[in-house]
Amino acid sequence: MDSAWSQQASQLLNNDVISAEQFFQLATTDEESGPVQLRMLLGYAQRLPRPQQDPVWHELAAKHLPELVTKFRSDDSGPLTPTARVINVISYTPYFIRFLSTPPARSPSLASLYTHRVSQHSQSLSASSNPDDVAETCQFLATLLLVQGTDDIQKQDKDSLLPVLRQWVKRPAFRGRLASDASERVVWLLTGDRSMAQPLSMVRNHLIAPLEKCSAQGCSKTRANGDLMKCSRCKSALFCTKDHQKLAWGAHKRICFEPVF
Ligand SMILES: [Zn+2]
Ligand SMILES: [Zn+2]
Repeated sequence: MDSAWSQQASQLLNNDVISAEQFFQLATTDEESGPVQLRMLLGYAQRLPRPQQDPVWHELAAKHLPELVTKFRSDDSGPLTPTARVINVISYTPYFIRFLSTPPARSPSLASLYTHRVSQHSQSLSASSNPDDVAETCQFLATLLLVQGTDDIQKQDKDSLLPVLRQWVKRPAFRGRLASDASERVVWLLTGDRSMAQPLSMVRNHLIAPLEKCSAQGCSKTRANGDLMKCSRCKSALFCTKDHQKLAWGAHKRICFEPVF
């Protein structure tokens, strides 16, 4: 990010402090400048140290996911709408993973809806030749496919998207960059490439880990080993014992928020 951009971003902030509320407002505002300001602040925030970012993304997910997802579902003006960008950023949090499995299950799944949307907009995405946009779109699609699977993906969406993705993988301007790698990951996921099953399931396990295993560092107890206690506030972390809950609290408290779902 160039320094002029960074300066503009910090002018939008009070004391350079990013907040969950601000990202929610920018993602859902009707003001014309919203999308530009959002991109600027996301670019700025994503370069901050993780300990500064993590609480913001977790709080945003806990408090605003239902509204963000409702707006995301209804706005099919492009693959990278403001809500798509924000949900992509918070898609690594356990709140997002838990939200996807919280009833009522809505049809189509976000994975199916987004596969359709990306296939609808793939030609314009291709024509714009922006590796960052292709990377961001494919990363988000890969996360959704990884978590929700491909069961309700429409065959026609898959058939129209795969050739475009394969072009992106090989495109000289994308090679060696995230645009190519992320496109390839989506190809693997959509085709169920068995040779990639293991590395992909490792990524998936990492994403769902907070909802499957004890959150204390170094503890490997999982739900398969017996009942774990759920954090009563966030419902998005598990502990094997009170001791491990205490042990983990120092780190967990920064990302523990009461969810609205
Ligand atoms: Zn434990
Ligand atoms: Zn918690």
